[in-house]
Formats: sequence, C-alpha cells, structure tokens
Amino acid sequence: MAGPPADVVVVGAGIAGAAAASHLARRRIGRVVGIEGRTPAAGATGRAAGIVSEQMWNRWDVRAVQRSKEEYAGLAARRAPGAYRTNGFLRWAASSRIASALEARTEELRAWGVDVRSVGASELERRLPPLRSTGVAAAAFAPSDAVVTPSDLTAAYLAEGREQGVDWRSIPPVDRLAREGGSWRWSERTGDRARIAVVAAGAWSKALLAASGAPLPLAPYRTQAAVLQPEPGVPDDLPSFHDLDTDVYGRPEEHGRLLAGDGTERVEADPDRFRPTGDPEFVSHLASCFGDRLPGWTDLRLVRAWAGVCVATPDRRPVVGAVPGVEGLYVLTGFNGFGVMRAGAAAAWLADEIVDGPRGEDGPLGPVSPARFAGPVRPFAPRPGFTLQAGPDPEF
Ligand SMILES: Cc1cc2nc3c(=O)[nH]c(=O)nc-3n(C[C@H](O)[C@H](O)[C@H](O)COP(=O)(O)OP(=O)(O)OC[C@H]3O[C@@H](n4cnc5c(N)ncnc54)[C@H](O)[C@@H]3O)c2cc1C
Repeated sequence: MAGPPADVVVVGAGIAGAAAASHLARRRIGRVVGIEGRTPAAGATGRAAGIVSEQMWNRWDVRAVQRSKEEYAGLAARRAPGAYRTNGFLRWAASSRIASALEARTEELRAWGVDVRSVGASELERRLPPLRSTGVAAAAFAPSDAVVTPSDLTAAYLAEGREQGVDWRSIPPVDRLAREGGSWRWSERTGDRARIAVVAAGAWSKALLAASGAPLPLAPYRTQAAVLQPEPGVPDDLPSFHDLDTDVYGRPEEHGRLLAGDGTERVEADPDRFRPTGDPEFVSHLASCFGDRLPGWTDLRLVRAWAGVCVATPDRRPVVGAVPGVEGLYVLTGFNGFGVMRAGAAAAWLADEIVDGPRGEDGPLGPVSPARFAGPVRPFAPRPGFTLQAGPDPEF
C-alpha cells in the first residue's frame, strides 16, 4: 500500500533532471523522489560533447549559459575535479554572408556582456595551430568558454541531491503519469504518487507527456559525434572550435584526442530505436572537413563514433515551466542540442518557479515557458544546429 504522496517526482536522471531534483531539495520543497528508467546520464547527457559556450543567439540563452557555467565550476570544484575546464572557443567563417553574420553576432554578444571578440588570421592560427586560415573572412574568440564532462556533473548533482534528501530510484521507465486525487501516480504497481511532477525525460519526454494527456510540440532527433586521435596529439588547453562553413566542431579530449561532431539529422528519431553508432558518411565528412581546414593534424585515426537523441522544439528554444492547463505538471526539456550548457540554470529557475510560484512573462522562464505552445500540437521538422541566427528556421 502506497504511503502519502511525495511533494515532487522528477522523471529522468540526465543532467537536467539531476540538477532539478538537487535544486528543489535545496529549496526545501519537501519530499523529492527522482526516478530513472535506465541509468543516470544514459540518454543524451552521456553522449554529449560537453562544450559550454556563451556564443548563443538569444539573450535568455546567454544568461542561462552564464549561470550554468558558474554553477558547474562550483559543482566540479566541490565534487568532480576536472569536470569543468576553461579553454575558450573559436569560431570562423569563409563565406562572406556567414562572416558578416558572425561579425554582427559578435558585436551583439559583446553588448550583452559576453566575453568575446573578433580575431584576425594570425591570432586564429596561433590559438589553433593545425588550422589553415586561407580564405577565412571573420573569426571570433570567447576566452572564458569551457568544456565539461556531462556525466560527471550529473553524478555530482545526484550526490548533492541525495545529501539534501532526494530519494533517487532506479525503476523500469514509466509509461505515463496519471492524475489521481490531486496528485500524479507514476507506478500502477506500487501506487506511488507525488503532488507535483517534473518531466525531464529528454528524448522520451514527447511520448511520456502525450501518454499523460499533456502533449507538447517536441521532436526527438539524432545527432553524432566522434573521438579522433590526430598526429600530433591535441593539447588540453586547445580551444574548442566551430567551422561555421561546414558546421563541424571540435574540442580537446583526454589522451591528446579530439572530440568532433556535426551530423545533426533534420528528421524525427525514435529514442528506443535509433542507430547508436556513427554513420560512415558522418565520419568521412569529418575527415574531409578536417583535411581541408585543419591540415596540421594528420593521421586522424578514428577511435569511436556514436549518436544520441536530442529534442527539438518548433522555435528552437527550450521548454521549461508549468504545462498550461494541467495542474502540478512541469517540463524541463527541448534543449535543441544545447542542454548541457543550459540545464543548470534552467533547473534552478524551474525550482524557483515551483517553490515561489510563477513569475509570468518577465520572470526568468518567460521566454521558454510551455505556455507559448498552448493549443493543438502540430508536427514539425527539427531545425537545430549551432547557428548564428535566432528564430525557427535560420539560414545559417
Ligand atoms: C552527440 C551529441 C553532442 C552534444 N554536444 C553537446 C554540447 O557540446 N553541449 C551541450 O550543451 N549539449 C550537447 N548535446 C545535447 C545534450 O546532450 C542534451 O541537450 C542534454 O544532455 C539533455 O539532457 P536531459 O537531461 O534533458 O536529457 P537526457 O540526458 O536524455 O536524460 C533523460 C533521462 O530520462 C530518463 N527517462 C526517460 N524517460 C523515462 C521514463 N519514462 N521513466 C524514467 N526515466 C526516463 C532517461 O533514461 C534519461 O536518463 C549533445 C548531444 C549529443 C547527442
């Protein structure tokens, strides 16, 4: 026989759910239960590249990254030394249209207080020696951008949450949340319930919300990354980088390796049936982009390649807050491929909203509230990517 309902159940122990449970417990909301249907960080979190960059395209996102960075730096210092490292982030473009957009974006980011500046060819090659800068028309460098180890940060949030009293449980994935007598029941077998439910189930959120009678416009999509071993090896303090012409990005990994990616697919994927290994076309695309633009690295040996499933929204913004018209149900998802870098802040602001009550359009969650999707849910094609432009369908 189930006991009295918990105060909150958080579904999902990716970085978002782990952070949310920890923040809710710190805010002393009462009894918090966390449920994970696989293993912590088994979803996108454990497959992410871990780049954390303030070079975003909306003000909210910049603030979210800034706040998350502070939080991750502190969390890593307390619990996971090495899980947060400042290495800077370089971006460049040869195409004149993309270069103009990069220059305009860099100025805008500076006006928003981001530590980023334009750099010329000689600085570009000095900071990233394997690069051939021929034809590059614009470049920007953000010295305080960072790289993190997402699974270590998740484990650190889980540990801090547990110390604050969060009851993290490993159970089979829940099929649906059922509203019963003013609370949410997540297990028919045990009858376990909570007053408030937070869905932080990553790519599975779409199906879980729909089965719980609260559908939202979400589209899971597959994206890929690979670890390469170049010659010579990659120093730890090399900046992360993004070639805007090809959309290929990279960051230094341990043992002198490089983690690189692009490979975002613009079609919906099933998180229970996607191909978890990297496609040969993806790997050969990386090799050809590196050969053209980063010829200082030779013998790029493939160590491994993989894919994970992220979550798109129609406007490419996260969806965080109370589900309109459904009492006691909150979501924390829709990160469009950039969830590691914004989850800490989004989770903290969500915990504030749950504990203190809604702050409306001007509150910290105003721009990402699920309320913007009130009405019928229509299918859409995912359009994520590390783009320069805001809006649902950016050109680049
Ligand atoms: C290749 C790749 C590279 C990336 N690179 C970056 C990057 O450099 N920087 C960045 O910021 N982001 C990056 N991302 C995106 C980032 O990984 C995600 O946005 C982020 O991890 C989402 O975290 P989450 O907690 O919302 O979801 P997830 O990590 O997917 O966690 C969801 C959890 O919920 C659990 N769950 C789901 N359904 C249920 C259920 N019904 N019952 C119980 N448990 C359930 C799952 O098992 C899972 O553990 C990358 C992603 C990929 C795939």
